[in-house]
Amino acid sequence: MHLAKRILVTGGAGFLGSHLCAKLIEQGNEVICVDNLFTGTKRNIYPLLEKIDFEFMRHDITFPLYLEVDEIYNLACPASPIHYQNDPVQTTKVNVHGAINMLGLAKRVKAKIFQASTSEVYGDPEVHPQPESYRGNVNPIGPRSCYDEGKRCAETLFFDYLRQHRLPIKIARIFNTYGPNMHPYDGRVVSNFILQALQNKPLTVYGDGTQSRSFCYVDDLIDGFLRLMQSSDDFTGPVNLGNPVEFTMLELAEQVKELTNTKSDIQFEPLPEDDPKQRQPDITLAKNKLNWEPTVPLRHGLEKTIAYFADLLKAEIIKPS
Ligand code: NAD
Ligand code: UDP
Ligand code: UDP
Repeated sequence: MHLAKRILVTGGAGFLGSHLCAKLIEQGNEVICVDNLFTGTKRNIYPLLEKIDFEFMRHDITFPLYLEVDEIYNLACPASPIHYQNDPVQTTKVNVHGAINMLGLAKRVKAKIFQASTSEVYGDPEVHPQPESYRGNVNPIGPRSCYDEGKRCAETLFFDYLRQHRLPIKIARIFNTYGPNMHPYDGRVVSNFILQALQNKPLTVYGDGTQSRSFCYVDDLIDGFLRLMQSSDDFTGPVNLGNPVEFTMLELAEQVKELTNTKSDIQFEPLPEDDPKQRQPDITLAKNKLNWEPTVPLRHGLEKTIAYFADLLKAEIIKPS
């Protein structure tokens, strides 16, 4: 039997958070979604607002928060470089002060707490693919450091609350994920290509397009979150969650072209500095401990994401931000 819980989701109006809230409600839980709407939007949680078990609260988690909950999923943090570099000091604050507040809350009410960490904790990795034991190669003083080091410090805090206060913690290191409710102007390759194709504008491939990435569809990722939260207390992670199937950016562009029936051509643009040639998760640990692996093929996930962006364009609610 499934026992209903009261669950706090920070960053719940964002891309991943909105899917997580929907899933938790579907399972019969009570959900409190806390978000300051920096990159998230009420549109993402619109279908949930009428549910009796769903509550939205506009709040910035860098400030203390007093609630009574059984579980916490801590997702609040802008995820794309253009957003997290917009106010880098705030990015470190949300990762560090925000984590301290949520850990303090978890400690007071004895709640289990989940942290949305990232593959960026590996920095510019020297090993491929990266197992969780790899300690990373992060620049502490660059423009990406507010995010990478902020997330690393959050992991440190989680483990110190575990050691010092015996807090039950769960840490997921998330790799590139895509799907409906992605921010249309996050500058990432999937949203760029789809929006360009739907508007018959050229698809901007950076470099020669032979660099590869692996993309996880959001439903697979959320399934991984739930399995991690339900895993035995002695399994804390960090655990990689992502899709190991690699595609080159040219292959991605061709798939998007085909699925949208676009008239767009491909336009080659310079490769950004330090653009990794390859990024791929090693998900051996997630397979062994959580019996988890992604099941949604890229083509299927792209179809759903294209339909989402097409609706946004039709409703004329997409404006650059
Ligand atoms: P997102 O930007 O869509 O969601 C983040 C949410 O946090 C937004 O709704 C935003 O308004 C909210 N937020 C930001 N600062 C806040 C604050 N101070 N107080 C309260 N709310 C705040 O991004 P996402 O892709 O859904 O990412 C969710 C989490 O997953 C982030 O922690 C991110 O670092 C992590 N992650 C995501 C990916 C990915 O591929 N999407 C990869 C690695 C890690
Ligand atoms: N905190 C919070 N909600 C709570 C409990 C704590 O926001 O329900 C904040 C509190 O403001 C504090 C932080 O979490 O700054 C860390 O709390 P903790 O009890 O771990 O540390 P202390 O208060 O002893 O510094
Ligand atoms: N990219 C591209 N065209 C775009 C946006 C990105 O070719 O319009 C490339 C980018 O150079 C990188 C890959 O796509 O090689 C993935 O970029 P993204 O920013 O989405 O993710 P990350 O580099 O963080 O994996």
